[in-house]
Amino acid sequence: MKQVPVLIAGGGPVGMTLACELARRGITCLLVERNPTTTRHPKMDITNARSMELFRRLGVVDALRAVAVPESSNFDVSWITQLTGHELYRFRYPSVTEWRKLIRERNDGSMPAEPPMRVSQVEIEPVLQRAVQAAPLVEARWGVELVDVAQDDEAVTATLRRADGITEQVRCRYLVGCDGGTSRVRGCLDIRLEGQWQVQQRFLTHFRSTENGSSDAAEEELVPVVRFLVGALANANASGANHDDEGANA
Ligand SMILES: Cc1cc2nc3c(=O)[nH]c(=O)nc-3n(C[C@H](O)[C@H](O)[C@H](O)COP(=O)(O)OP(=O)(O)OC[C@H]3O[C@@H](n4cnc5c(N)ncnc54)[C@H](O)[C@@H]3O)c2cc1C
Repeated sequence: MKQVPVLIAGGGPVGMTLACELARRGITCLLVERNPTTTRHPKMDITNARSMELFRRLGVVDALRAVAVPESSNFDVSWITQLTGHELYRFRYPSVTEWRKLIRERNDGSMPAEPPMRVSQVEIEPVLQRAVQAAPLVEARWGVELVDVAQDDEAVTATLRRADGITEQVRCRYLVGCDGGTSRVRGCLDIRLEGQWQVQQRFLTHFRSTENGSSDAAEEELVPVVRFLVGALANANASGANHDDEGANA
């Protein structure tokens, strides 16, 4: 049976960041992600400054900034009557460029080392995936699901299942459940989810655009991205809501 010090269940942002952080500290781990690829769902919009500080420590900040909205774009949230309608109100948030100026001007220890970032999880995950795959101490497998967990006094035995149905058992000293809101790890341990699992039913509209806001025409052609998501109150039975449980996890 394969033995690893740490098994990470779930290759979302948290699982992949943990794998990189463990590798940075010289700890070997195995990461398994049930999906064959990184997420297709543009959940996540703003990555906050503290998360960016962690990404800076891992050396992935530049790669992340390269796929984020341009540094000169503001992070405003606009409340509008409809896409071609008029604006009712606007929450104003500084751009990365403005943030950098604020940080420079206020050197009193109260500011973060990195400004926040606006980018979809669809863009973040491939950057983290490349970092995970480049880390020599991390073995990462996509298309492998954690299906069961048993523990004894010594360690944890996890059952993994590949997409073709083949199962394998892995023995680990630590199992880390980074498998989202519907966590299988949590379920296996009989840990109840506290609070309200579904605050509200909503639907999202995803707009795909080849425009990334850059003034560089060549770059615009090269970078098809999911730019916006719109959350709206909706009839709970609206078709397309929660088309799989990934969106519901977050
Ligand atoms: C519409 C929307 C907007 C959001 N906006 C923001 C935002 O602006 N800023 C922000 O910080 N957060 C935002 N979030 C929340 C953010 O998406 C989550 O906090 C984030 O995804 C959590 O990361 P995670 O790695 O813990 O979990 P997830 O991203 O849910 O990843 C868990 C991973 O585990 C995998 N997995 C599940 N079960 C198993 C299993 N049994 N075996 C192996 N793998 C498994 C899943 O496939 C998934 O890839 C938003 C979420 C949504 C839905």
